[in-house]
Amino acid sequence: MLYYSTNKKAPLATLEKAVVKGLAEDRGLYMPERIKPLSKDFFDNIEKMSFQEIAYTVADAFFGEDVEADALKKIVYDTLAFDCPVVPVTDNIYSLELFHGPTLAFKDVGARFMARLLQYFLKKEGYGSQVNVLVATSGDTGSAVANGFLGVDGIHVYVLYPKGKVSPIQECQFTTLGKNITAIEVDGVFDDCQALVKSAFMDAELNAHMKLTSANSINVARFLPQAFYYFNAYARMKEKGLASNLVMCVPSGNFGNICSALFGHQMGLPIKRFIAANNANDIFYNYLKTGEYNPQPSVATLANAMDVGDPSNFARVYDLYKGDHKTITALIGGATYKDDAIRQTMRECYAETGYVLDPHGACGYQALKDLLEPGEVGVFCETAHPAKFKEKVDDILSIDINIPQRLQEFMKGTKQSIDMSKDFEDFKAYLMGQ
Ligand SMILES: *Cc1c(COP(=O)(O)O)cnc(C)c1O
Repeated sequence: MLYYSTNKKAPLATLEKAVVKGLAEDRGLYMPERIKPLSKDFFDNIEKMSFQEIAYTVADAFFGEDVEADALKKIVYDTLAFDCPVVPVTDNIYSLELFHGPTLAFKDVGARFMARLLQYFLKKEGYGSQVNVLVATSGDTGSAVANGFLGVDGIHVYVLYPKGKVSPIQECQFTTLGKNITAIEVDGVFDDCQALVKSAFMDAELNAHMKLTSANSINVARFLPQAFYYFNAYARMKEKGLASNLVMCVPSGNFGNICSALFGHQMGLPIKRFIAANNANDIFYNYLKTGEYNPQPSVATLANAMDVGDPSNFARVYDLYKGDHKTITALIGGATYKDDAIRQTMRECYAETGYVLDPHGACGYQALKDLLEPGEVGVFCETAHPAKFKEKVDDILSIDINIPQRLQEFMKGTKQSIDMSKDFEDFKAYLMGQ
């Protein structure tokens, strides 16, 4: 299968090139040339299949032409070493809990898959040199990528994060790992970290010195595997006899997660409609209302992993439906919640149901409360474990939430990081010495 760029000005790429390069030469995002529909038989019997079996069927449709069956199966099974269960919260609202992986957020799925697929290509091609993944993070992405790639041969990960701007729980998840993971503490803000990474990708001398790639949701190997848990959620709802009028609601920032769900829909997944839940960063919500896409500087909110003012995967959503606003609004609804509304939702949900929402999931839950129609059943993604945002959640709900064991393990480790200025020449000199 070949991949084209959403900007349509770059040559078609193989899966290997799309994964190794991340972004196309014309700065567009790679899209598969074809999306293969899955069979009626698969959907008729899906509720009898396990998560891994379902995921392998989906993975085969995406990647089966380019990765040998046995290897792909192993990649899928190794990725899904944890469950993504669907849990009832009210009569007609269910939580798709995506936080049972190593760093307690949904990005674990894509990061683990990408690490294993990249390793597969490196082995196959016998790359003599190591591949270096550069990732800028405001917290969550860095931990998922670092843990996904931990101990993977032939790949070194550099996580750049802004000094003093990530929570202690987040910081320990990528600074205590050692091995092939290096944490770089940048004296600046998140945008400085991102600028350093972007400059590194454009620097000819550096690229001649070392092979560089990125691991954010622009990478097809990171965002497509997220479709696995939507198929599984459908299967588990079908098992309960609740799959005929399903609405899937996704708390969205860069729109990689919802985009993978939309790919699932194109493959025949019988979801009736989707809702993208935003925090105060309401660019997509406004696009739905007006047909105009107007990127804005991001504003800081309680749900900070969704603080995105120019969602990178919007280009993919737009491309998927040929830019047709009518088609997009018929299938995808929108909602936007400011911090006060997020706090109120968390309190109400906890008081009424006992379920502890994190600030991101709260946007999804509230969007279903507000937008579900009679006869519909809603599933929202709970994208992170509430303990990841312990200080905020404890404060809002006046509780003392337990920190899961695997998060406590991270907190016992010693922090190791490299101090860096926000000056590219310093960063470049450091990398040239590696
Ligand atoms: C990354 C993230 C999101 C946003 O996902 P996108 O794919 O960028 O839309 C939502 N919630 C949490 C907890 C995240 O880490």
